Amino acid sequence: MSTEVRIPAPFRRLTGNRARVRAHGSTVRQLLGDLESQFPGFHGMLFDEQGRIPPHIKIYANGQEITALAGLDTELREGDQVTIIPATAGGAPDIELTAEQRERYSRHIVLPRWGEEGQRKLMAAKVLVVGAGGLGSPVLLYLAGAGVGTLGIVEFDTAEISNLPRQILHHMHDLGRSKAQSAKGALADNNPDVNVVLHETCLSAENALDVIRGYDVVVPAVDNLATRYLVNDACVLLRKPMVEASVLAYEGQCTVFLPGQGCYRCLYPAPPPPGLMPTPASAGVLSITPAVMGPIQEMETLKLILGIGDALSGRLLLFDALAMEFRQVKIRRDPNCAVCGDHPTVTSLIDYDEFCGIAAGR
Ligand SMILES: [Zn+2]
Repeated sequence: MSTEVRIPAPFRRLTGNRARVRAHGSTVRQLLGDLESQFPGFHGMLFDEQGRIPPHIKIYANGQEITALAGLDTELREGDQVTIIPATAGGAPDIELTAEQRERYSRHIVLPRWGEEGQRKLMAAKVLVVGAGGLGSPVLLYLAGAGVGTLGIVEFDTAEISNLPRQILHHMHDLGRSKAQSAKGALADNNPDVNVVLHETCLSAENALDVIRGYDVVVPAVDNLATRYLVNDACVLLRKPMVEASVLAYEGQCTVFLPGQGCYRCLYPAPPPPGLMPTPASAGVLSITPAVMGPIQEMETLKLILGIGDALSGRLLLFDALAMEFRQVKIRRDPNCAVCGDHPTVTSLIDYDEFCGIAAGR
C-alpha cells in the first residue's frame, strides 16, 4: 500500500529536492521505516536518541496530528496523505507557490534575501491590524499586496465621508457601511489569496487577549489612547511583537516593540490628562501623514516576518511633513515599566477608559 508523503524543505536534501514522495506501510511507523530505506538519513532527522519523535517535529495523517490518533501506530489506508512538519526556527514553511503566485510576487521574489522562501514565510504569517482607518488602510493594502496569508482586522465603525481623503480602503459606495466589510472587499479586489478575518468588535479588556492570541505580529493603527494602551498591554502579556505608529496633523511617529525589549508604556508611562492632547478630530490629520507612516509600519511588519533588516526597535521614527524631515530618537525599555518592567504591577488587562480618564468625562 502506497501513501503520499509531503516532505518539508529542510528534509528535501534527502529526497533529491522532491516535495512529495511515495512510501509503503500500513502504519505510520512502517511508513517512516520505508522512507528511511528509500532515503537514508530520515530516521536520524525524525527520531531522538530514545527512538521517539521529538516535540519539534509534527506528523500529520490526513490533516490530523498523529499524537491525537494512535501515534506511530496510526493505521494508514490507500490514498492517505502524510505530512511531516518540523518547527524550523525562521525557516520557510512547506507551501508550494502556484504559477500565478510566482508571477504576482515576482518583483519581491527576485529581491535579495527575499526569494520564494521569504514569500512562503509571508503566506504562512498571521498579522492583526487594529483599525481599518487612515493608517490601517495602507498597512492592510500593502500587507495584502505582499501576500501575507492571514490578515485580521479589528474594526467596528462605519465609513463616513470625512474618512475618505485618507482611508483609502473605503469609497463613496461604502458610506454608512461597516468599515470591516468594505476593507475586506477592497483587499479581496487586490489579492483574493489573502484570508481576511474580521473582528467586528470594539477591542476591550474582556476580548483583547482572545483576539490577539492567534496572530504573529500586531499592528495598532488606532486613533485613541485607550485602545493603544490596551493593545500594548495585551501584546506584552502575550509576548507578541507590535509595530506601533500614530499620526496627528502634519506629523507621524513609528516604532517597533519586540517582546522583552520595551513597550509603549516604557515610552509613555501614563496618558496625558483628558482634554490636554488634541485628537484627530480637533487637530486634523493631513491625508498623506498616514500614507507615509502606514507603509513604514507595513515594511517593519514584513521585516519581522521575513527575518531581514534591522527592526525599528529601540528607535522612534518621527516624521514632519511641513519640514519634510525624518528624525530618529533612541528609546529603551524601562526596568520600572508597570507592564514590562522587572517588577510589573499590571499583570492582567485593566479598565483602559478609566486609565485614560475617559470615564471621568471629556
Ligand atoms: Zn514597558
